[in-house]
This record gives sequence, structure tokens and C-alpha cells, in this order.
Amino acid sequence: MRSPAISVYDIVLRNRFWSKVNKDGPVHPILGTKCWIWSAGRFNLGSEKGVGYGAIGIDECGGGGRSGRNYAAHRVSWEFENGPIPNGSWVLHACDNHPCIRPSHLFLGTPADNSRDMVEKGRSFRPVGNRNGTKTRGERHGNAKLSDASVEEAARLKADGWRSADLAIRYGVCRESIDYRLRKRIERLCESSP
Ligand SMILES: [Zn+2]
Repeated sequence: MRSPAISVYDIVLRNRFWSKVNKDGPVHPILGTKCWIWSAGRFNLGSEKGVGYGAIGIDECGGGGRSGRNYAAHRVSWEFENGPIPNGSWVLHACDNHPCIRPSHLFLGTPADNSRDMVEKGRSFRPVGNRNGTKTRGERHGNAKLSDASVEEAARLKADGWRSADLAIRYGVCRESIDYRLRKRIERLCESSP
């Protein structure tokens, strides 16, 4: 998805943009803040449940004229807040709620290496570390084992509806190891119950 050139027409565009946002969305259980839901048109990309990304038509004057084209609302929101999206980067949802455009729920990454790198460096919304908050060499590596604390958190997020693929990006591991560790956790819980 491309980004529009947001420049001198800023104000026009911002006014249009924010008039299409409902800031009274659900409170995210982990982030603790409300999602800001795009209430106008939506794309239907990469969505499993038919809930797509917000779409906004932007013409060369920042308006919604016929000469415009559609842009992803969450990307536009990220650019309002942070400036141009670096080439090749994706704007990802920490809240996993695709119509959400709240800047604090968005972070930069790519589906694979860049996101893993981002999680390792602690720039994602909640850095992954061990219990005393420091990084260990093992946990920094892409094939690192998940710490027990991370597995517990992953289980909670999974229960909240996160997909394994998104959890894998969050913790910088492959999807199979997320699924494996969650399965092992359940087995352990079953064994330890009377
Ligand atoms: Zn959100």
C-alpha cells in the first residue's frame, strides 16, 4: 500500500480524516486504551473476519474528489503522527484491530525480519525481555526460546483473539514455536490439575 503525499493540504485532509473516526472503540485489554475506529469505507485486505483496514480517498488537494485514490487510513494516521513511512515498512496493529487508527496502537515493521528485529530491540509497544527486564543473548536471537513469562503472556493474548502469526512477530520466533509452547503449556496445566 502506498502513502499519500501529505503536505500543504494537511489541514483539509486532517479535518476530513478525523471526522470519520469514532474514538469510543473497545478498550484493548493489554494496551489499556480505547481503539479509535475508522467509521468510513474499508479495504478488505488480509482480513480473516471480513473486518478490513480503513480506507480514505485522497485527491491532490487533500479532499475526497474523484481524481483521488484510496489509501489505508491506519497508514495515514501513522504519518500524521510520525512523518513519512520509511520505504518498505508496514504499519502494524499492536491491538490487532484492523479498523483502528489510533497512533499509539500502531507500530512500524515488516511481516518478517524487520518486525523480529523491532521486537528484539524493544521498540515494539511492549518490549520482550526476561523477568528482570534485561535482554539475554538467547532471547535476542530469532530462534530464541520463549521465556516462561512470554508464554504466559502469549496465552493471554491468544485468548483475547490474537493469531499465532501475530504472536510470532511480537516475540520474534516462528509460528510453530508459539503453537508448540502453547500446546505444551496446556498439557502441563492438564497434568498438574487433580
Ligand atoms: Zn486499537
